[in-house]
Amino acid sequence: MKKYDERETLFSRISLEKGTKEYEEFYAKNPQYQKDDDSIRGVSFRDNLRKSDEFKKRFFPLTANNKLFIKNLHDLVENFEVKERQVIEHSFAKNLKEIGKYYGATDVGMMKLKDSSYYEYLGGLSDEIGLDTYGKKVKRTFNTAIVFTVKMDLEFMNRAPHFEELLTTEEAYLKVAQVGARIAVYIKSLGYRAMFNHSEYYLAPLVPLAVDAGLGEIGICNHLVTKEHGNNVRLGAVFTNLQVDYDQPIEYGLNDFCKICSLCMMNCPSKSITHKERMVNGKRFFKFDDASCFALWNNSGTDCGTCIQSCPFTQGVDLFKVNQMKDNPKMMKQIMEEYLEEFGRRNYTKKELSILNLEDKDD
Ligand code: SF4
Ligand code: SF4
Repeated sequence: MKKYDERETLFSRISLEKGTKEYEEFYAKNPQYQKDDDSIRGVSFRDNLRKSDEFKKRFFPLTANNKLFIKNLHDLVENFEVKERQVIEHSFAKNLKEIGKYYGATDVGMMKLKDSSYYEYLGGLSDEIGLDTYGKKVKRTFNTAIVFTVKMDLEFMNRAPHFEELLTTEEAYLKVAQVGARIAVYIKSLGYRAMFNHSEYYLAPLVPLAVDAGLGEIGICNHLVTKEHGNNVRLGAVFTNLQVDYDQPIEYGLNDFCKICSLCMMNCPSKSITHKERMVNGKRFFKFDDASCFALWNNSGTDCGTCIQSCPFTQGVDLFKVNQMKDNPKMMKQIMEEYLEEFGRRNYTKKELSILNLEDKDD
């Protein structure tokens, strides 16, 4: 099976500098990306947020130092010594799931890592934590992934594509790192090796792992779509050599539901989402124009999130109905009709949240 190469992800591609050996080699092999990538290279989409300088000076610092926190968590886990080994039975998986939730995860599952779970090569997204990983071949060094979701704030997400969306996304990346770091330190305290994936350093694409860990299915938005919170979640994963009972993938009928829904595709302002299939590490995903998506981010000054806000499961569907919908077109139709009646094509809220409101300022 062909493994995914992190160098092909958008953020790795557009971090390449023109004229470097890496740039020349990558685009000689992948000329199809070059024109679009060059048009968005070197841009920080946040700078294009259409807000006053006063707003930016006041509110950008809310999340501007998140990478510093993540770097410190990364270093803490790396430097934390593995303690004396305890015998841990496989059934301890159920305790670990509760421990993950205690640390702040929304849901937790276990999956067995295979060689094909990992990236083939790393894409060097780790500048912020001071690692040079571009082009490094990834080897399987862990058996188990403890995969988890962290729910984003729906009130914030329903303001997508405005600044509130960026705030909840950035917050979730940091929470994922905090939860992952705490699980990893805990596992090391039990005497087993552990590393945590975070926004600055991934050893594997996490959506396929989350599917194997039974946390949800892949929607045409290419995100994990959970039954309870849709795609309004960020993913984390701790890799370890501790062996536990593993979960199984779930199928609740999302594949058929996406065919009658397509709301993420219809609402996507850059028309980046399609129904055409592609494979990533053995899992079925959907063809997606990442460059036009990123161009839209540059236009909005946030990472958009309209495809998250548009998903009926993000807004909440009665779990009883979700559990009845597999192979049941009548139930799917009912869920769609109820959603459209309540929210229309998307549940967009225009009113700014009070956290960002400067009107009552007394100077
Ligand atoms: S983030 Fe926005 S532009 Fe990108 S795919 Fe989702 S809806 Fe489309
Ligand atoms: S919005 Fe609809 S089509 Fe898109 S992932 Fe959610 S259920 Fe599937």
